[in-house]
Amino acid sequence: MQVLLISTYDLGHQPFSLASPAAKLTAVGATVTCNDLAVESIKEGAVEKADIIGLYLQMHTATRLSVALLPRLKELNPVAHIVFYGLYAPLNAEYLKTIGGDSFIGGEFEDGLVQIYNNLIDGKAPILLNLTSTENQKFNQPLRDGLPNLSNYAHLNVGDGSTKIVGYTEASRGCKHKCRHCPVVPVYQGRFRVISSNLVIADIRQQIAQGAEHISFGDPDFLNGPTHAIKIISALHNEFPQISYDATIKVEHLLKHKKLLPKLKETGCLFITTAVESVEEDILQILDKGHTHDDFIQVAKNNKEIGIPLSPTFVPFTPWTTKRGFLRLLDTIAELGLIENVAPIQLAIRLLIPNKSYLLDIPDIQPHLLGYDQEALSHRWRNLDESVEDLCREIQKIVETGAADGILRVETFKTIYATTRRACGLNDDTFPYQLPLTNITVPSMSEPWFCCAEPTQEQLSRL
Ligand code: SF4
Repeated sequence: MQVLLISTYDLGHQPFSLASPAAKLTAVGATVTCNDLAVESIKEGAVEKADIIGLYLQMHTATRLSVALLPRLKELNPVAHIVFYGLYAPLNAEYLKTIGGDSFIGGEFEDGLVQIYNNLIDGKAPILLNLTSTENQKFNQPLRDGLPNLSNYAHLNVGDGSTKIVGYTEASRGCKHKCRHCPVVPVYQGRFRVISSNLVIADIRQQIAQGAEHISFGDPDFLNGPTHAIKIISALHNEFPQISYDATIKVEHLLKHKKLLPKLKETGCLFITTAVESVEEDILQILDKGHTHDDFIQVAKNNKEIGIPLSPTFVPFTPWTTKRGFLRLLDTIAELGLIENVAPIQLAIRLLIPNKSYLLDIPDIQPHLLGYDQEALSHRWRNLDESVEDLCREIQKIVETGAADGILRVETFKTIYATTRRACGLNDDTFPYQLPLTNITVPSMSEPWFCCAEPTQEQLSRL
């Protein structure tokens, strides 16, 4: 029986979430084809032959792209069992069913995919699954042979002009925190699940054999299980001392586990992505981020001292954002010497409220909600100050132009700063910060990490 697993976009990585279920399905006898539409064309022959087609919905952009792709899949193969799996599958199951989805699996999806395969083999009815599982499951070593080579994916700009081929793996899934805006939360509800350290290292080993020079850990938070994380990076460094890595760690954990940072540095951690979201106390509280403005300042200083650059991410435009608040964010970034560390897109992100978001339950959001937008797969909202919406649009335009014209981060930041000062009624060109005089920059991925973008024309044209 033929299974086709499709990823439309996975933030520039070779998708773990195709390779991992491919291994489990192959182990029970399925013939599995993987198709990563972020870097290759659709495999029409595999679509036509498939008995089961799994579409991986790790996040918003992938979900929008998968919805756009479905009619083509149906045209090529009207009878295949369509499974949507990944975080966004259970969040959007009702809608996905109306457009032709048969099964929906969120959370720990590998066993659910195997269950569908076994049901189909046994001719059992019904084979439909609507499942959100956070059960511990046994993983197999991801099967990466059927995926495009790692050199096709986003690379690491080391910061000194050189680049590295990047491998990607996950040491855990889910999260033990419940930040209200986070799509992990409605699915995992404060739980996280680990993948055995031996398997993680085996997966890294096979990617190094394929050319990986740097490993990106895609765990929602690498220090949800600090003992597990330290075991993995120690083993990694022991076996491959030349390999660097990066991870995502929340501000709260960077403070709480400050004593672990030297270990990260020593084992090759090149940078840490951290979801700061805002520097305004009221917004941090609404989002239930678990950190304060001062915590972020402290963490930025700690990391500078230890020598692991931060790559902070933000959700600067929310229903509660003010123009002065946005200017305070820019000042904070500049004062901390982090201008180069922030991908410009991070200054243009507008809060995304997916279906079933915990934000929908709180009174603060109610005056801002404008109803659910089925096509955009999110709740529409407005800032009651229309001039903040105008500023957001202006910033988005500056960032788009900067990206298209290859403008340096620092120059884009300066333009954003001047625009924001003007929007705040401060009509002068003050830029009281010193910018680096050299071209040496901090390490960053060639594809900036953010998951809530509208699909681009280029992405849609590949479907
Ligand atoms: S810490 Fe990160 S992954 Fe965990 S709930 Fe908060 S935003 Fe989500």
